[in-house]
Amino acid sequence: MAEGFNWTCPHCQRHVTITDTISRNQATLYHKNADGRHTLVTTFIVCPNPECEKYTLDVKLYQSEQHATQMKEALKELVKRWRLVPPSNAKVFPDYIPKPVIEDYTEACLIKENSPKASATLARRCLQGIIRDYWSVKPGRLVDEIEAIKDKTDNLTWDAIDAVRKVGNIGAHMEKDINLIVDVEPNEAELLINLIETLLNDWYINREERKKRLQSIVNIGSKKSEVKKTNGS
Ligand SMILES: [Zn+2]
Repeated sequence: MAEGFNWTCPHCQRHVTITDTISRNQATLYHKNADGRHTLVTTFIVCPNPECEKYTLDVKLYQSEQHATQMKEALKELVKRWRLVPPSNAKVFPDYIPKPVIEDYTEACLIKENSPKASATLARRCLQGIIRDYWSVKPGRLVDEIEAIKDKTDNLTWDAIDAVRKVGNIGAHMEKDINLIVDVEPNEAELLINLIETLLNDWYINREERKKRLQSIVNIGSKKSEVKKTNGS
């Protein structure tokens, strides 16, 4: 691992390059068994950002076989993957975003792999929460609420929301009760979660950043005019 690779820390969201803060170990099931030889690979990565330095632990189980020439195992198909620390891919969002939105989002991420149905249900509710809070739309069916913000959002954002709305079962059930649990594939839940992350960034975080930038301009402006006054001009 001399080259290093790009990586985004799930704790601090920084884009960093990992060179020497990664350690990998593996354990192999050698005993004859019904499912064949398996190898478990554990990977620790420590974030090189000095303000973070938190570790991430990822575990992967592979089918494996003895390497023809070397002493180590040859890894075959990936059987299962567990993200142990932190427990999901949920990103950390600032606390000016409404708490119920963050809770639904975080939990949807946490259960995405094992319970995609429940994850998608939470993600739909989260999407509705965002649209209602941010755009103050009249509460109704999610599909109508999405329609109601068509003229308020930029085209590309609305196209993305609309694209997710059209996907498989999620789309079909946006027109019905939001709390209904429906069959979905893990990647459908993932798609909804990605959309939520994009909207949180584009709407809440952008609005807050803009507010901060404009406020600092106002502050500088008013300081300058005070200086002018005290100088008697
Ligand atoms: Zn970090």
